[in-house]
Amino acid sequence: MAQAESVVIIGSGPAGHTAALYTARAALKPVMFEGYSAGGTPGGQLMTTTEVENYPGFAEGIQGPELMMAMRKQSLRFATRIVTEDVTKVDLSKRPFTVASFEQQLATRALIIATGATAKRLNLPGEQKLWNKGMSACAVCDGALPVFRNKELVVIGGGDSAVEESTFLTKYASKVYLIHRREQLRASKVMQQRALDNKKIEIMWDTVVEDVLGEELVRAVRIRNVKTKASRELPCGGVFYAIGFTPNTALFKGQLKLDEYGYVVTNPGSTATSVAGVFACGDVQDKRYRQAVTAAGSGCMAAMDCERWLAEQGHSA
Ligand code: NDP
Repeated sequence: MAQAESVVIIGSGPAGHTAALYTARAALKPVMFEGYSAGGTPGGQLMTTTEVENYPGFAEGIQGPELMMAMRKQSLRFATRIVTEDVTKVDLSKRPFTVASFEQQLATRALIIATGATAKRLNLPGEQKLWNKGMSACAVCDGALPVFRNKELVVIGGGDSAVEESTFLTKYASKVYLIHRREQLRASKVMQQRALDNKKIEIMWDTVVEDVLGEELVRAVRIRNVKTKASRELPCGGVFYAIGFTPNTALFKGQLKLDEYGYVVTNPGSTATSVAGVFACGDVQDKRYRQAVTAAGSGCMAAMDCERWLAEQGHSA
């Protein structure tokens, strides 16, 4: 194997690109695996978001993909080597660490994990047959497709994502049923109000979806009220999940300390993980804040922690 890299970054959301920017400017010549299909689109979750109004510096807001393209351009400007492949294997048991994709295998002194999190699914009986045939976990990516136009659609969940996706879908749908398993939304007050004020959104409280029905395309869901136990079919032309996320940590299982939900555990006030020389930033280690700006902030922390650690090991740039 060729000489070890100073640092490899896995992931290309705000955390990964900020880590790239800082390590590149520290002359560490970072290599970034931006991904191909694992964990979603390269660029992370903002690639499937529309308006981002809470990233500082954009007074009028910015589209998620536009923000990520700008971050990528900035990483490239400082000579980050970006590889458009999924990492298939890492070996953290000895140094230098090994990071492998289908096409290559790299040795690296330090590793920054910024693999993010992926939308959860319910695994309903009809889901496998009907996935992408009227079922999706991303309204913003798929909601504008002709198959959903002027249809009655279902969104499952009660958090900010569910409200945001429902609101987005009302642009195209004739009606959106927001189906939530409890009698209170988890979403922030301002988002809740947005759903309540939207005449095209009907919130179905205390309701669970037990199955999705259809042959070639979704035609209905079977729902059950958890209080009355009454069950019925609700005709609809599409189903969107908005029920939270799973951290993308399968690569690291058994090699790094993960918490009970599978998030990478970092030392308090630091991005250091249970393995010296491995740092984690962004949603893969954060189930609390999960914002683009906090991900970017922790990407900066990871780069600085990494630079300091390499210097302590006698590997300054
Ligand atoms: P959340 O974890 O906040 O919400 C998930 C929702 O799905 C909850 O209402 C939960 O119900 C429900 N749910 C989970 N599992 C199931 C299940 N098996 N069956 C039925 N319902 C289920 O995830 P979000 O994606 O909404 O938000 C994640 C984070 O991102 C939050 O911090 C949020 O604030 C932020 N966010 C911010 C946005 C913005 O500011 N524009 C937009 C989108 C997200 P229950 O409430 O009963 O637990």
